[in-house]
Amino acid sequence: MVDHSNDQSTVDKGIAAQQALLADADPSLTDVADVAKALNVDPNVGLSEAEAKRRREKFGPNELAQAPPVPKWKKFLQQFQDPLVYLLLAATVISVIAWFIERANTAPGAEGGEALPFDALVIVLILVVNAVLGYIQEAKAEAAVEALAQMTAPQTSVLRDGKVVRINTADVVPGDIIVLAEGDSVSADGRLVTAASLRIAEASLTGESVPVGKKPETLAQAKALGDRANMIFNGTSVTQGTGRAIVTGTGMNTQVGKIADMLSATEDEKTPLQKEMDYVSKILGIAVCIIAVVVLAALAIMEGFHDIHDVIDSLLLAVSLAVAAVPEGLAAILTVVLALGVQRMAAHNAIVKKLHSVETLGSASVICSDKTGTLTRNEMTVERVVTPSGEVQITGTGYAPEGRMVLPAGVDGESERGMAIRDEVTATLIAGTLANDGELREGDKPGAWDIVGDPTEVSLVVAARKVKADRKAKHYVRVAEIPFTSERKRMAIVAKDDADSGKLTVFAKGAPDVLLSYCSRIQVGGHVRPLTDGDRQDILATVERLSSEAYRTLGQAYRPLETSSLAEVPGIAVNAAGQISDIAEQSGAIETDLIWNGMVGIIDPPRTEVRDSVAEAHRAGIRAVMITGDHPLTAARIASDLGIIESGGKALTGDQLDALASKGDAAFDKATSEVSVYARVAPEHKLKIVESLQRQGNIVAMTGDGVNDAPAVKSADIGVAMGITGTEVTKQSAKMILADDNFSTIVAAVREGRVIFDNIRKFLRYLLSSNVGEVFTVFFGVVLAGFLGISQPDSVGVTVPLLATQLLWINLLTDAAPALAMGVDPQTEDVMNRRPRKLTDRVIDASMWGDIIYIGVIMAAVTLIGMDMHLSGGLFTDRSVDALGHEAQMVEARTMGFTILVFAQLFNALASRSHAQSAFVGLFSNKWLWGAIGISVVLQLVVIYVPFLNSAFGTTPLSAMAWLECIGLAAFVLVASELRKLVLRMMAKK
Ligand code: ATP
Repeated sequence: MVDHSNDQSTVDKGIAAQQALLADADPSLTDVADVAKALNVDPNVGLSEAEAKRRREKFGPNELAQAPPVPKWKKFLQQFQDPLVYLLLAATVISVIAWFIERANTAPGAEGGEALPFDALVIVLILVVNAVLGYIQEAKAEAAVEALAQMTAPQTSVLRDGKVVRINTADVVPGDIIVLAEGDSVSADGRLVTAASLRIAEASLTGESVPVGKKPETLAQAKALGDRANMIFNGTSVTQGTGRAIVTGTGMNTQVGKIADMLSATEDEKTPLQKEMDYVSKILGIAVCIIAVVVLAALAIMEGFHDIHDVIDSLLLAVSLAVAAVPEGLAAILTVVLALGVQRMAAHNAIVKKLHSVETLGSASVICSDKTGTLTRNEMTVERVVTPSGEVQITGTGYAPEGRMVLPAGVDGESERGMAIRDEVTATLIAGTLANDGELREGDKPGAWDIVGDPTEVSLVVAARKVKADRKAKHYVRVAEIPFTSERKRMAIVAKDDADSGKLTVFAKGAPDVLLSYCSRIQVGGHVRPLTDGDRQDILATVERLSSEAYRTLGQAYRPLETSSLAEVPGIAVNAAGQISDIAEQSGAIETDLIWNGMVGIIDPPRTEVRDSVAEAHRAGIRAVMITGDHPLTAARIASDLGIIESGGKALTGDQLDALASKGDAAFDKATSEVSVYARVAPEHKLKIVESLQRQGNIVAMTGDGVNDAPAVKSADIGVAMGITGTEVTKQSAKMILADDNFSTIVAAVREGRVIFDNIRKFLRYLLSSNVGEVFTVFFGVVLAGFLGISQPDSVGVTVPLLATQLLWINLLTDAAPALAMGVDPQTEDVMNRRPRKLTDRVIDASMWGDIIYIGVIMAAVTLIGMDMHLSGGLFTDRSVDALGHEAQMVEARTMGFTILVFAQLFNALASRSHAQSAFVGLFSNKWLWGAIGISVVLQLVVIYVPFLNSAFGTTPLSAMAWLECIGLAAFVLVASELRKLVLRMMAKK
């Protein structure tokens, strides 16, 4: 939660208090123990929760100060900052002036001239109501965005009360012990306590593009930021290794805090849709000004302005036209519909960070996904172990360490071969559990097991326990580690044998085809011998066989170092304190001349729901692409099981991609347009694939978890981070976070994006046809006034067919509720049966404009006919009104026109729900819409039957017959729309 309490004075106080802690000492020049003492913390235990809370209050939140939020009154006034509202305000001024002139020209006591400028008052009142509604809706949308921000709030691992816990980054306080791992964002400044192969990207702070190595040693002299190797800085990110650091500064008391000073409140960028809406309203505004000028000029030329009344009447006409054309409530409805959609998606595990992305989601044409965990369940079980002497099965499922080794058929466990196999399997799993960071813990419930770390690694721990290899692994203590990365595809450790010799051994595990190239020997039975070409071929053939059966394979190897001192190991540099300085750089020296033990085959079942989602994506014209670090055959097998490719289809490997890339973009693009499975790729290939797909005009969604995936996730149109396994850095580069890491959630989000987009089009069609109907009514009402009986032969000046206030009533009240309801319309059947929409396609395309104008014309026609029927003269003359004067006739006729227009809108609401499908399909599926129609009818009754509103809106109660006429004429809109849709459907069939 953004803490708005951090205004300048509290921020200053927090900084001063923090600085007092270290008494101006430079932590990079101070020993860890002294820094810990000054900050009153034990680096092995961390702060207590109570102490952390106290410090949080004293030092403030760990956030960069924000500019103060816009006050509410200002937000309310901002509702009026719209050119269209200016137009209406100008209209108000004109009608006040008109009222003044009218009164000044009316002799006291004579008829004419109203007591109050009703038009102006009503326009102002309605504008205020509009601003209030807009304000409320905006606040609602903001609350939705804020809730999303909460869900995606950055987190940090810290040590509290001796335990590693994840807390909101804002709650990190000076003295906290931060626990760093690959992919973490560094969220405060700190002094390193420990570091293992720690590398940090500091480009954001120092501009240095290569990640820098970090070590805890105290510096001898003060250095520039980029060279303070024992310090970590807020805003940077861990690219490799692990470490712990004492927080020395938070929030504004960090190096970025000093340069950032104050972040201006982030402006919400307008989405392309909102921009297009702005454009449409602008065009409408201009069009109406032009129409008004033309009409006024024509009237001036044809009839001439005889006196001031003519001028006033003409100006009032301009006001009505302006009011008719402006879609007042549209912007607010748009925002709220997007916000509601985003909330719905979040409830279904897809957390979209910006409203904007909802539009892009609906247009996705390719979804690139990792395999492990997204397409598969990431529930790993070792089922096979293959060693030089044979292959065994390991029984049992899940993470419960219950199962046993099953020897090949016909092999006796006590025979020489049987013993050899058992020894080799044990040795393989010993290496597998030692070169391993996974952990298996007994759960709270009996028989339940919790896993900590990478499921691939835990599966090896489980297998080792099943065959009791874990007991023999116990007496090894890890002294050094070269971590696993997706690029290296292997990991190695150096362990000391505590039981007897105290000698050191390297244990390694990794992708077998990769690890094998670092092996020169092989262990068969109890003997070690050189690895022959035949052995290599056998091992690679086994990898292929297991992979094509969907197993994930992992090789194990080791090498005794024949010494008990790290300093004597070639390749390891040890400093004066006996610590390894940078083992990662020494991997070439350590992972060499290894002895091959064997490999395991791990099964990771595909997620059952994904197959349907892939099929759904294909129907929707979206290609599903798998990009994995795993073996090409494993990848291809799982991809074909899931329907991503045909069975027997092939995967392209990272090496093949490199070869294609060297031939130029054209060759690369051709491959990416055809291939849907990529295997043994490194994260940098993901970026190339995204760029290539984008060059071909695709809208690309790309998943990622590791820190190195961030560039690809960032460049994708829709970067998707894993909520469970994703690193903080990837989450921050992503536009959407999958709370459940599931591919199906992406497809569901795309569907939701399309539904939202469809609904936006529905209410746009509805609102704009309404405005066009009003403009046509006013325009033709004036042009054809003589024919229709609106102007009588003896009347002077211009008579407006409908009053500006009546038009505003329609636009702001009776239109708004159905439009909002359409924003939550249920999805249509075809939503995932059509191709993705191009981002460059206009929201309102030519055929939709056709719809809008067609309906607008019909609406104007029925409205004017209805009015004519209640006026003497004109085409359909009703003699019964002859007795009334023209003024009274006009009031009745306007009430008719007003009501017909409102009901025509309501029939249009039903018609607008689809471009070509009949309104009667799923007529009652949206209960909100029917509620909204009910509200609109009530509002119309109110304005016609409440006497006070009669004078404000120029209405009069209608007879039953008149009501029948209104509804009958209005229904014609639905009939006309059904006819048009019928023709469209017939044409589509042809
Ligand atoms: P995806 O990219 O779909 O998540 P993945 O998890 O298989 O696929 P990586 O994590 O990059 O991809 O792994 C690549 C290869 O490295 C794997 O096929 C496996 O052989 C090996 N590997 C995976 N995890 C480890 C590990 N913890 N230690 C050693 N080797 C590993």
